[in-house]
Amino acid sequence: MARTTIGAIATFNGQTYTCVGVTAHERANRRVTELAIWESRCPECGEAFTFQTSVTRGIVSPNRRCARHRKPGIKVRMNANAGGDGSARTEE
Ligand SMILES: [Zn+2]
Repeated sequence: MARTTIGAIATFNGQTYTCVGVTAHERANRRVTELAIWESRCPECGEAFTFQTSVTRGIVSPNRRCARHRKPGIKVRMNANAGGDGSARTEE
């Protein structure tokens, strides 16, 4: 799969995401991977928020809303990369 680079734009179900950065991340198995930082706007309040995925993954089940409007039970699939350390997912 193509690597995500800064400035890349992707859409998911009509919502637009822009890659605003790439950062190194050490996994539990000590391998260092790169994470793409995606920015989008919450469809409920318009506030910008970011989330991270592997640069080789593209956006797969991305966050759709800002931290305030994220709600458990509303069709947001967590742990798309199960087996990781989950550090990219801190919302509760
Ligand atoms: Zn919001």
